[in-house]
Amino acid sequence: MIKNILEKALRDLLPELYQMKPGLCHCKQCEDDVLALALKVLPPKYVSREEGEVYARIELESPQFQVDMLEALLLAAEKVIAHPRCGSGQGKNVNPGENVGEADKKEKNGAKE
Ligand SMILES: [Zn+2]
Repeated sequence: MIKNILEKALRDLLPELYQMKPGLCHCKQCEDDVLALALKVLPPKYVSREEGEVYARIELESPQFQVDMLEALLLAAEKVIAHPRCGSGQGKNVNPGENVGEADKKEKNGAKE
């Protein structure tokens, strides 16, 4: 079984990211978008065995790589904040349920005033 342990490492940094980017929407869609964008710019860390995972984790835990991951997450967060696919708007108070079915239409126009 092969897995990219980078994904979990990025997930572990999400609480930190939300603190640094209070405008970032907390919904599952935006969380996944941030992770996907960050994963795209970072080199993947695939492991196939327990042993490999230990070595890869040592690399992931290095201060330099932590910084790289956080930078990638911050960039990704800015993109998602500018264009949230869930249609939540930029930190506005949105009535839950109000935008159901409107998210797609709002993607390009009218999302920001
Ligand atoms: Zn969202």
